[in-house]
Amino acid sequence: MTDDTLDEVDFEYATAVAEKAMQSMAQQRVPPTPNNFHVWFKYSLGTSPDLRRAIDILIGNKRKFDATTNRGLFATYVGSRGADDAAAYGASQQLHSVMTTAKQFLTTAIADNHSQIRAINDVADRSEAGVDPKLLVESLMNELTKAATRATKLEMSFVEKTRELDAIRDSLSKSEERARTDTLTGLPNRRALDEFFRDAQIAAMESGEPLSAFLIDIDHFKKVNDNFGHGVGDQVLRLMAKALQERVREGDLPARYGGEELIAVLPGAGLATCRAIAERIRRAISKCHITRRSTGENLPGITVSIGVGLFQPGESMMDLIERCDRALYLAKETGRNRVVTENELASERAAG
Ligand code: GH3
Ligand code: MG
Ligand code: MG
Repeated sequence: MTDDTLDEVDFEYATAVAEKAMQSMAQQRVPPTPNNFHVWFKYSLGTSPDLRRAIDILIGNKRKFDATTNRGLFATYVGSRGADDAAAYGASQQLHSVMTTAKQFLTTAIADNHSQIRAINDVADRSEAGVDPKLLVESLMNELTKAATRATKLEMSFVEKTRELDAIRDSLSKSEERARTDTLTGLPNRRALDEFFRDAQIAAMESGEPLSAFLIDIDHFKKVNDNFGHGVGDQVLRLMAKALQERVREGDLPARYGGEELIAVLPGAGLATCRAIAERIRRAISKCHITRRSTGENLPGITVSIGVGLFQPGESMMDLIERCDRALYLAKETGRNRVVTENELASERAAG
């Protein structure tokens, strides 16, 4: 059941689910605001295994459901789910129609099989009744030919249906891939990032392993566009994406976050590891020599600033990115071509 079909739940059932939701919220001291209620109603309904796991882990760890956690749960499991559900619904409708055809087709095959057995039994009965053997052989041959024709027809439509299914599966996975890829850089896009993060945050909460992220912004990128044109700007962006992609580990997710901002999510990495990887990328980029393909002329050096953050169990991806963004801003303010972590934000605040 998706959120769209929540309205179709009957009165008694919905009331029971709502009461259970209110009870759990009272136990965990979650204020019954509309957003919180939506989260806990969905939790009580049990339609989202991810949400269920996330809340159960938080309860298991005796974490307080404070405003940040509640906002995080809503943003992660309720807010952006609508589009995903609609896409999944479309695909499942398509598959449903093929499955219906396949079922009809097997039902016909079984019925055919039965009538064939009856026909052959009939021939056998007649042979016992002493009917002319020549006639019997002829009707037996007849039945067998009919059976063979049916089998061939069946096999042909079976092959055809299998092909159709393969094509659907192919086009589904291709369009899924396209929907998750940024066309300019070839990196995973925002959507892929959201999905990756959803799983990574649950895994981190379950295992207790750290989870970190860094946000990259190209320094003075406007100048590149202004001085050399958007085409060159795009080429630089693609190069940055490549530099990032080549330097993160297998289980990490590099993505294009927005215009000229790239991001990487690093499961299992704490702040120090994440910072070291970000630093490696910053250094590699600052050493890059970019040549303009059309003229062979060298572009002035490109640098990036990077903000690093560590995931706090229960918070949303946006909360984490917001800290990365503040660290990034500090990196810009303190000279650019730098990596700054959220820890430096805290010491900056203490100093200021
Ligand atoms: P700062 O060092 O403060 O980051 O300076 P900046 O010039 O990079 O400033 P800012 O980050 O605000 O500017 C981003 C620029 O990136 C503006 C926008 O035109 C450009 N940009 C965003 N997306 C693209 C893109 O896809 N291709 C190109 N060529 N340019 C882009
Ligand atoms: Mg920017
Ligand atoms: Mg910039």
